[in-house]
Amino acid sequence: MVPFLDLQAVNHQYHQELKDACARVIDSGWYIMGNELTHFEAKFSAYCGTKHAIGVANGLDALILVLRAWKVLGKLKAGDEVIVQANTYIASVLAITENDLVPVLVEPDVDTYNLDPELVRAAITPNTKAILPVHLYGQLSPMPELMAIAKEHDLLVLEDCAQAHGAEIEGKRAGNWGDAAGFSFYPGKNLGALGDAGAVTTNNDELAQTLKALRNYGSHKKYENLYQGVNSRLDEIQAAMMRVKLPYLEKETARRQEIAQRYRAGINNPLVILPQVVSESAHVWHLFVVRAEAREKFQLWLTEQGIQTLIHYPIPPHKQQAYPQFRDYQLPLTEQIHKQVLSLPMDPTMSNEAVAKVIDAVNGFKA
Ligand SMILES: *Cc1c(COP(=O)(O)O)cnc(C)c1O
Repeated sequence: MVPFLDLQAVNHQYHQELKDACARVIDSGWYIMGNELTHFEAKFSAYCGTKHAIGVANGLDALILVLRAWKVLGKLKAGDEVIVQANTYIASVLAITENDLVPVLVEPDVDTYNLDPELVRAAITPNTKAILPVHLYGQLSPMPELMAIAKEHDLLVLEDCAQAHGAEIEGKRAGNWGDAAGFSFYPGKNLGALGDAGAVTTNNDELAQTLKALRNYGSHKKYENLYQGVNSRLDEIQAAMMRVKLPYLEKETARRQEIAQRYRAGINNPLVILPQVVSESAHVWHLFVVRAEAREKFQLWLTEQGIQTLIHYPIPPHKQQAYPQFRDYQLPLTEQIHKQVLSLPMDPTMSNEAVAKVIDAVNGFKA
């Protein structure tokens, strides 16, 4: 069996260092908002090239709290429109609606699954106040074009970097393009904690200070509350785990890119549409997503060949029961994508033999 992602194997690579870091936290007697977090935030902002990284409890909170902070700072108000691609994971949309903002779902570029600058431009109304580009599957959105549109129309840009740690265009990494970015360190993400964790990156001092208060009950100073905040802190244990794993991220990304290269060179089945790559460094391959018209049959075939696959994602946000108000939206491209996508195994610990086995199985599929 070729597993989709063997998390046990991923973390086993560092098991002694992880155990030592865990013991260090246990013995420190300090479990929330301490040295581990401060160190991790400094290392992660340096990795992204940003002035600040603010640890929070998970990726969804990172996105929610940036939008919340912009409301607190008077940059957004309830009812403002936020443009986002319709084929994203539901978290990006939840972050918008949680803040009483209005998601404007636009069709993606079908080749990259990311925002299409022309369709963004066409979706702008007088109520549009922000763009939320999701670097889906690990490929950076067309940020130079999107930032130019944002500047022209005075829009805020919040990057959803949950799948794109380290992706770069023109030497500038995900999380360092927009006004702010949300990262997830869910265990299966490219940089994964051993539980839930997330972070915001930004170069804006005022936003960073506001977020540091919002994540901690709205408090800058113990028992003094500036805002009606939340409890969304990144634990010392998780910060310690990621301090261990962050130095290896570059190596793991390189391996993901190598696996993707092998898939792209080896898969030549006309029934299977391969992902398109803007540039090698722009894609960190959180997922290797292909499309097939006969997706269910294709997935069944791969299962029979001992290849585990997943679907990211089976139901688009506008068709979810959670959002009856979007049910009648006409988004044919997004719906087609959700019917056709299939994610092949992508795991930095995969052997070249396993990669070859996947390629053979994909090429052996017949209509
Ligand atoms: C994983 C993910 C999130 C949410 O992150 P959590 O840490 O699970 O809350 C947000 N957006 C995208 C695109 C994701 O893949």
